[in-house]
Amino acid sequence: MTLTAADFPVELSPGTWDVLRGDFPLLIDGKFVSSASGAAGVTHDPATGAALADFALGDAVDVDLAVRAAHKAFGGPWSKLSHFERARLLRKLADLFEANTQVLAELEVIDNGMPMWLAGLTARNNAELFHYYAGWAERIEGTTTTPPAHVLAAGEALTYTLREPVGVVGQIVPWNVPLSMACLKLAPALAAGCTVVLKPAEETPLSAVVLGRLIMEAGFPEGVVNIVNGDGATAGAALVRHPLVSKISFTGSTEVGKLIVRECADDLKKVSLELGGKSPVIVFPDADMAKAVPGVAMATFFLQGQNCMAGTRIFVHADIYDELLEGMAAFAGSMKIGHGLHADTMIGPLISAKQKARVMSYVDEARAGPARIVAGGKAPEGPGHFVEPTIVADTTPDMRVVREEIFGPVMAVQRFEGDDLDAIAAMANDSDFGLSGSVWTQDLSTAHKMAARVRSGHVSVNTHGAVGANIPFGGFKQSGWGREFGREGLDLYLETKAVTVAL
Ligand code: NDP
Repeated sequence: MTLTAADFPVELSPGTWDVLRGDFPLLIDGKFVSSASGAAGVTHDPATGAALADFALGDAVDVDLAVRAAHKAFGGPWSKLSHFERARLLRKLADLFEANTQVLAELEVIDNGMPMWLAGLTARNNAELFHYYAGWAERIEGTTTTPPAHVLAAGEALTYTLREPVGVVGQIVPWNVPLSMACLKLAPALAAGCTVVLKPAEETPLSAVVLGRLIMEAGFPEGVVNIVNGDGATAGAALVRHPLVSKISFTGSTEVGKLIVRECADDLKKVSLELGGKSPVIVFPDADMAKAVPGVAMATFFLQGQNCMAGTRIFVHADIYDELLEGMAAFAGSMKIGHGLHADTMIGPLISAKQKARVMSYVDEARAGPARIVAGGKAPEGPGHFVEPTIVADTTPDMRVVREEIFGPVMAVQRFEGDDLDAIAAMANDSDFGLSGSVWTQDLSTAHKMAARVRSGHVSVNTHGAVGANIPFGGFKQSGWGREFGREGLDLYLETKAVTVAL
């Protein structure tokens, strides 16, 4: 690639140029290699369309090599490391992350399109995540008990439990927050003692390659982490089917999640899934409007709405409906749209022309009525896959814009009346999904009663999507299986073995 400074609106740091001028190989068995077939893909800046880099595109052959390397490592020196040594490696990786946040953030911005303020934040959060799971690595412990008398007489036996790593794990991540998705899966898996084959999304391959370099620099033994860029239907599917893989951890569309479950039924691989969402945001008449206006708007527009926990079904009490709509329309209109490298950008591009067309199909359908578009609704002319932050008011529960995950900056607003919390919850829960949600009120009783009634894995009060390393996150209903982050995130990668000893 012959990229020059003119391809970007802001000067990139020298470290990012060093990365861009280098190769983007696969990481297999501790070595950076081309794909076996020699195939390569090209990744583009979604804000400009500029080609950024060629990257090695793996297929089933590379996946097989990576899985075998992970399998060998699982039974090799990695399995002999103590919990404390694993923790030390994770902390070293966290330190390397901290030292490289600017480069990692810039790569995320140009490969994915997210605004720089967000990329910087997520890069730093990833360092925190490795520190957090280093702490858990040191605290993996079982329990002791005595078996019941019908098994062995009291005082004659002892049972204890061991927490053992699941084995080789296949991790498949999407393009919407590429580096964070990889880190939030890798950190607990490594803390637990698993070995990993990571498949990043084909749309956003760059940051994972740098992640691989940092992992090797931190001193992880060869084969413990293998990274195979490649497309879902070949590399992803090969990973899911591989008999030496004991568990698949997937984040992405509900459709592919279901496909993976069917595939894994054959050999009963463990599966955890973080899938789509269409999360409710419920605004009561006593909400603090100064906080609710930007807070509810950002629940939808954060990350251009390409966010599984986005709050996109907004239920607003009739008493404040017009006031909130007006405030949010003004907020949406004030959001700076542009290249993520600009410090004041709030809305970057969507990931691809395909995603832009998909999002605009929902907006155009809503435009036909009877709903009203009160903000945005247009896709600025190219280059770049931009869509304005869009508010669709007066929607009804049957509309596609209300029922389906759009994965773009499109908010669907509905009005409600009265104060019957069960009736309000029934509206909010009228969805196949159950990932996130938020409640906006200054009344403690309403807040807690409503949080309890929302059928989602994560509910915020007077804020939205407050996730972090120590807060379990995952879905009810078709939003997924299992919880990531926190102790639950570690448990996904551990088996429990009970050992009974006759004394
Ligand atoms: P996908 O579910 O297709 O992609 C997610 C990951 O799965 C990618 O790494 C992809 O690879 C991989 N993949 C795709 N097909 C298979 C397969 N058969 N076996 C194994 N892995 C596979 O999401 P899309 O990128 O197509 O996005 C479509 C929609 O999905 C979005 O509009 C949004 O609604 C939803 N989505 C939800 C996300 C979430 O966080 N919950 C994240 C991303 C999307 P590759 O892309 O390289 O082909």
